[in-house]
Amino acid sequence: MNVPLPPQSGGCRTAPVLKERGQREVFCGLTGIIWLHRKMQDAFFLVVGSRTCAHLLQSAAGVMIFAEPRFGTAILEETDLAGMADAQQEIDREVARLLERRPDIRQLFLVGSCPSEVIKIDLQKAAERLSQTHAPHVRVLNYSGSGIETTFTEGEDACLASMVPVLPETEARELLVVGALPDVVEDQMLGLLGAMGIDNVRCLPARRIDSETAVGPNTQFILAQPFLGETHAALVRRGAHHIAAPFPFGDEGTTAWLQAIATEFGVSPATFATVTDAPRARARKAIAQAAEHLGGKSVFFFPDSQLEIPLARFLTRECGMTAIEVGSPYIHDTIHGPDLDLLPAGPQISEGQDVELQLDRVRAARPDLTVCGLGLANPLEAEGLATKWAIELVFTPVHFYEQAGDLAGLFSRPIRRKGLLKMEAAE
Ligand code: SF4
Repeated sequence: MNVPLPPQSGGCRTAPVLKERGQREVFCGLTGIIWLHRKMQDAFFLVVGSRTCAHLLQSAAGVMIFAEPRFGTAILEETDLAGMADAQQEIDREVARLLERRPDIRQLFLVGSCPSEVIKIDLQKAAERLSQTHAPHVRVLNYSGSGIETTFTEGEDACLASMVPVLPETEARELLVVGALPDVVEDQMLGLLGAMGIDNVRCLPARRIDSETAVGPNTQFILAQPFLGETHAALVRRGAHHIAAPFPFGDEGTTAWLQAIATEFGVSPATFATVTDAPRARARKAIAQAAEHLGGKSVFFFPDSQLEIPLARFLTRECGMTAIEVGSPYIHDTIHGPDLDLLPAGPQISEGQDVELQLDRVRAARPDLTVCGLGLANPLEAEGLATKWAIELVFTPVHFYEQAGDLAGLFSRPIRRKGLLKMEAAE
């Protein structure tokens, strides 16, 4: 059976959702630049921001950069902020200097940030003007990574959504896979689809601007990441058709995701089984090994990356955990519905955040594992709770069959570590 069955107890799609609109604890959308600049090999991300933005990017990158980096911050000094008259000329000068020095840049993103003076700069106007100046060699687009407007994975959504209107038009019947995946994982996916006879596959974002990613009324698109609401809407506006599916985490999620594509493209059940049986078996074995410490344990998700619902589905159905609360910054029925259908009824589903109230709930529940942002993890560890940093789930390859065991391992490690610490303390 390739399509996972809903739980007998019923799923969570129609469960009441606790909606909170209080203080939230998440990174801003600039964080997405860290994985996007690795993926898009001819792109440059120029943040128009403050020193805080530059520091965030440097510390989030967290590594020595040996090659010339493909992101930077045009820091608006306080004097600039006071006298905004020449901000547009200053951006033009910075961009001209950058492009002269770096002829390898083919796509330039002007990324907006929080300071109120930056918000006042019309970056769209700047991008249009600079596109005209530097066409056809360089395409300039803009989006906001501001912490006021975006949580950290929404930076990727805003970036991809900015690209959709300028993608070339096509009449071809093609599959478009949407969401940045590490190259090695993307290659595995393309290998599986190719083995099923689906070769007309494009990716957004593509590794280079010259790849043939285009969109039109015969484009069938599927999301590889659950945080792409704006991009989904932009593609639908271009006439593309969305293939709804659970997200490709674990054996079940990957199989259901591939099956949704196979059904759309008329792949026979026999071919599907030939292609997926062996990697499925490997995934199940790897999950069983890594999930040894997860069975019977409880998990509580703070809203962070929008990966929470599909991951809760994976942990409850494939790793034997019980979800107490599954929080997500946003819930879109079209995008998250297929995973909610499969998530066994029981957990509190919450959308948005009021961090103090949520901390009260996690303290009362004392789950075996709490998945949360960096800022909450240390205080909760100090209170004796085992935590998993949500951001690691975005930076680690976790999609599809070959990564399913690693995905379970990411959750089992903190629980195992806590068990070992308890044993040491008791000795
Ligand atoms: S965009 Fe805003 S939240 Fe993000 S680093 Fe810059 S100032 Fe801070």
